[in-house]
Amino acid sequence: MGEDAAILAETIAVAEDSCTCKSLLDSRPMESTVHDFGNVMELLRSRGLRMTPQRRAIVAEVMRTQGHISPTTIARKVQGEMPGVNASTVYRTLTLLEEVGVLQHSHLETGAEYHRSEEAQHIHLTCARCGRDDELSLIEANALSDLIARHHGFAADLTHFAITGLCEQCAEATLAAGAIGA
Ligand SMILES: [Zn+2]
Ligand SMILES: [Zn+2]
Ligand SMILES: [Zn+2]
Repeated sequence: MGEDAAILAETIAVAEDSCTCKSLLDSRPMESTVHDFGNVMELLRSRGLRMTPQRRAIVAEVMRTQGHISPTTIARKVQGEMPGVNASTVYRTLTLLEEVGVLQHSHLETGAEYHRSEEAQHIHLTCARCGRDDELSLIEANALSDLIARHHGFAADLTHFAITGLCEQCAEATLAAGAIGA
């Protein structure tokens, strides 16, 4: 394994212990249904899952969350409302919600986070210095997708991994520090 591949493999392992991306790549649903608490519960029930109070609380918290859904934040909030809920139960339920097409994960600088599937179609630009997260639409990234497609017909999924770098402020600060140092 080359050094780059080793670093990438390590990054993936660190980013998310239970990354289900490989199995989900083939089964990612293409339709973008807008889900609400009722039809998500119905979806889980139709898969034969018992809807325990814990699972209901987790689904309710997920459906209440706007934007990025951080597994640790969800676990903390659910445990605040319902002490005794295992963090692993929260993570398992999030994986389940991804399997049924309600959620989709992306790997950011701070680890893996989820989106509602219908909100997941964007590229993350995360700052390696301050952790700030910016978004790029797939339309804005069209030229990049086309460029990659011209390379052996590769169809890139730009939404799955964040592009890391420096945000404008950090890039300027780094430049300024360099100028002082010189
Ligand atoms: Zn992944
Ligand atoms: Zn996002
Ligand atoms: Zn920054």
